[in-house]
Amino acid sequence: MTAADILIIGGGIAGVSLAARLASRQSGRARTVLLEREEMLAMHTTGRSAAIFSETYGNAQVRLWTREGRDFFLNPPAGFADGPLVSPRPTLFVARPGDTERLNTFLRENPGHAEPMTPAKAHALVPVLREGVFTGFAVEPASTDIDVHRLFDGFRRMALKNGADIRTYREVRGLQRKSGVWTVETNDGGYEAPIVVNAAGAWGGHIGILAGLGDYGLQPLRRTAVMIEPPPELEISSWPLVNHIGDDFYFKPDAGLILASPLDETPSEPCDAQPEEIDVATIAARLEEATTLTVHRIRRRWAGLRSFTPDRTPHFEFDDQAEGFFWLIGQGGYGIQTSPSISQRAADKILARL
Ligand SMILES: Cc1cc2nc3c(=O)[nH]c(=O)nc-3n(C[C@H](O)[C@H](O)[C@H](O)COP(=O)(O)OP(=O)(O)OC[C@H]3O[C@@H](n4cnc5c(N)ncnc54)[C@H](O)[C@@H]3O)c2cc1C
Repeated sequence: MTAADILIIGGGIAGVSLAARLASRQSGRARTVLLEREEMLAMHTTGRSAAIFSETYGNAQVRLWTREGRDFFLNPPAGFADGPLVSPRPTLFVARPGDTERLNTFLRENPGHAEPMTPAKAHALVPVLREGVFTGFAVEPASTDIDVHRLFDGFRRMALKNGADIRTYREVRGLQRKSGVWTVETNDGGYEAPIVVNAAGAWGGHIGILAGLGDYGLQPLRRTAVMIEPPPELEISSWPLVNHIGDDFYFKPDAGLILASPLDETPSEPCDAQPEEIDVATIAARLEEATTLTVHRIRRRWAGLRSFTPDRTPHFEFDDQAEGFFWLIGQGGYGIQTSPSISQRAADKILARL
């Protein structure tokens, strides 16, 4: 039996960023062990994101947490990364005539973060937008691309440097609270600690059930992304992210290709999500309808599970019923961009109990 003070289940951005924050504050006192089922960290949702930082995305609470983390992305702690975590990528929101109300609400909810743009400017920014399809435009000038690999690796190295013990290929199979400690069974022996953190992403509901606490209503939703080859004569690197305000699609340049998604949200069991042909065909059709691009060649396709609580707000709290059980779930479509602030807030709550 391996003893620890805090056991974290899940080696995606949620678990690893929390391990970094806990380890940095523990001054050799609390032992943090992170258990990840796969041989590699970040191989599920964290490794499959679109790498966007947007302060207008999600509900009001999510937007606050995202904005709180902006400074971390711009000025990470010394030695955290060997280069910038973010690079500018403004977002152009496009609206069809039927989306006008939605665009107006969006602008009202995001003063200082998004502003209207004229059709002429929008078409100059993204010349492939088909004339006449979209009638309303807005821009979020300060959104960015995130270097997710660099961010994740920064948190991983910070956790290790401060003494966290990260163990891969350890699948949690049972959880029980006995005499003031949690006992966790894995494929490779037992672990015990007074505090256990459920950061298992799409499997968060499953871990809750193993602990006898139910699944918190967590719902994994599959989302598909593709990489499309642009025509060779097209200069795309300076395009913004183009986001349909009515949630039909987004696309942006990514390493010489066009990353696009049909913004699908298909309920799924937790699994190694794979793209469905219908969703790939949908994004190709929507892109051809919205732009003058012809989708000849899809270079890559993938899918990931974005997991939501019933109110679509990430949940990071101790359980009301079960002492020492901390939920860190429901990061939805914003788990990368909220990781600096949520990891800090979660660590503060946990350390206050030690
Ligand atoms: C297509 C797509 C685009 C996205 N775009 C963005 C974006 O632009 N910006 C943004 O901020 N977010 C984005 N997201 C969302 C973001 O990727 C997620 O919110 C985030 O990665 C969730 O991290 P996580 O650590 O909770 O989950 P995960 O990365 O899935 O990590 C959970 C880990 O728990 C492990 N685990 C599960 N069960 C067990 C067990 N029994 N024992 C041990 N380990 C276990 C799993 O193996 C997994 O590694 C996107 C997601 C998708 C799919």
